Amino acid sequence: MTYKAPVEDMSFLLKNVFDVQQQFKDIEQFQDFDYELYDAVLEEGAKFSENVLYPLNRDGDEEGCRHEGTDVFTPKGYKEAYQQFCEGGWQGINGDPEYGGQGLPKALHVLVEEMLYASNTSFTLYPSLTAGACSAIAAHATDELKQTYLEKMQSGVWSGAMCLTEPHSGSDLGILKTKADPNDDGTYNITGTKIFITGGEHDMADNIVHLVLARLPDAPAGPRGISLFLVPKFMVNDDGSVGERNAVTCGSIEHKMGIKASSTCVMNFDDAKGFIIGPPNKGLACMFTMMNKERLSIALQGTGLADISYQVARQYAEERIQGRSAREGKKGAAIIEHADVRRMLLTMRSINETNRALSVLLAMNIDLEEHATNAETKLQASKMVALLTPIAKAFFTDTGFENCNHGIQVLGGHGYVREWGVEQFARDARIAQIYEGTNGIQAQDLVVRKVCADKGEVINNLFAQIENTLSNTDDAFKSHAAQLNDQLKAVKALTENLIAQFDANPAAAQGGAVEYLNAVAYLIGGWLWIKQLDASSVLSELQQKRKKAAADFYFTHLLPKIDSYIKSVENGYSDLFELADELI
Ligand SMILES: Cc1cc2nc3c(=O)[nH]c(=O)nc-3n(C[C@H](O)[C@H](O)[C@H](O)COP(=O)(O)OP(=O)(O)OC[C@H]3O[C@@H](n4cnc5c(N)ncnc54)[C@H](O)[C@@H]3O)c2cc1C
Repeated sequence: MTYKAPVEDMSFLLKNVFDVQQQFKDIEQFQDFDYELYDAVLEEGAKFSENVLYPLNRDGDEEGCRHEGTDVFTPKGYKEAYQQFCEGGWQGINGDPEYGGQGLPKALHVLVEEMLYASNTSFTLYPSLTAGACSAIAAHATDELKQTYLEKMQSGVWSGAMCLTEPHSGSDLGILKTKADPNDDGTYNITGTKIFITGGEHDMADNIVHLVLARLPDAPAGPRGISLFLVPKFMVNDDGSVGERNAVTCGSIEHKMGIKASSTCVMNFDDAKGFIIGPPNKGLACMFTMMNKERLSIALQGTGLADISYQVARQYAEERIQGRSAREGKKGAAIIEHADVRRMLLTMRSINETNRALSVLLAMNIDLEEHATNAETKLQASKMVALLTPIAKAFFTDTGFENCNHGIQVLGGHGYVREWGVEQFARDARIAQIYEGTNGIQAQDLVVRKVCADKGEVINNLFAQIENTLSNTDDAFKSHAAQLNDQLKAVKALTENLIAQFDANPAAAQGGAVEYLNAVAYLIGGWLWIKQLDASSVLSELQQKRKKAAADFYFTHLLPKIDSYIKSVENGYSDLFELADELI
């Protein structure tokens, strides 16, 4: 089965749905770019994903990573593919041009990332962590650290890793114990054990740059006492070459359900030399620069795997002959003729295509947040990024896994066995609901910090944008617009109630957080479907019909899910806390 990156759909989103170049008209860095260039990048990204990464995906899963001594070896072919990835300039596609990055918009980068995740999720995690580490270094490190590390990392010669989790400290980073003792020369000695570190050790890059959360000796307890440190695997000589080995080593790697070609390492820091990034005790805030980038990246893991699952299931459904066609009653029908198979395939596509649209919208706001010259545009964009990030992370990865599961179901028993590869997509997708902050934590973040804390200011701004689209919708799509308008009113009322009740009973509001997030996400999905329909006249006749079919399915069968989410939230969650633990 083949993977074909959805380049046409991606180009349509950039150019016709969001017209990103128009949005970026005041951003100097993007003025030399145009849609021809974006299309060329998408085409090249597609070739690399389809021809280099996808063929390695299955063997990488079979072989996995290997730990020997303190070394970790990636599966056969990964090192060479990584070399090609770096030579193609893919690592620095969205990186700072001052340090050798290409400075292309995030709105384009997310689409390339989706292809990379679809074709080989394990491989893609290594450069994803590097890109996230670069953004934290660029935003918060001293010029000296930036000069020493950024260029090598943005070219991929050195990779990055994110070291937060400890055996007793997962979602609750406030209790982490790793120590940072200051030295007279301004450096620190880092001591502690981090677990589950993606790409903490591997054989593809010449150096690995760990961004580590640790505590200074006099730090206050809790999250306000955490600082961020850069700890290289090899110290760097004055001339920029790799020098002596630092005291950071991989103790073991995890054996896990999926992403088997991605190394998940226990990392031991034994008085390893580190350099502080940002002010003392403000490390968590600095690390959030990286974590927010990673949350969007992991969202794309969900979309990419859901798309490859759809593609394989769609191809299989046309070939597999089974039973009698419901439409024509003839025997020997391909399974795509059966209602339930059609339902599953359309569920997958209608969610994947609207999630892809949301990833571009979110990324476009990141571009405006980072580069807009107008202060108000910058501020509004940053608020929108904060609101949309937990929604994208949780919704793309939850629906991503569900869609991978649909993929297995379409293939029946042949989906459950190894032969066709769809079971790997589901195994690879499952972790995305857990790491980078579990989806339960994302939903709490949405309710507590992004909606209730500002009394709904930003989400009301989003609702106003939806209203604006609805009042300008093409006549041909008015019935969808009317339906969405009803759902918008209902989600607005739910939001008002949530905010009103939050102060009195925050725990109960958090009980409904996941359902609230889903209600908002399905609403946004409907909005972005209308935006796609409004722009669809530029597409070929077949593509227009496919857009309309997926949108019609979304409005008929998926948007109504909002009603049940609202009902469940309205029913309240106080009962969860009234029950004794033994009744749970
Ligand atoms: C393959 C893999 C790769 C990883 N890569 C990295 C990496 O590169 N760097 C890194 O630092 N970490 C990494 N992690 C760790 C990952 O981020 C954590 O596993 C995750 O944050 C959850 O922490 P935990 O596993 O300790 O679960 P716990 O925090 O123990 O959570 C268990 C359950 O309790 C719930 N829960 C916990 N606290 C709350 C709360 N306050 N409110 C509501 N529910 C709550 C959670 O949602 C979850 O359902 C990785 C993990 C894996 C498995």
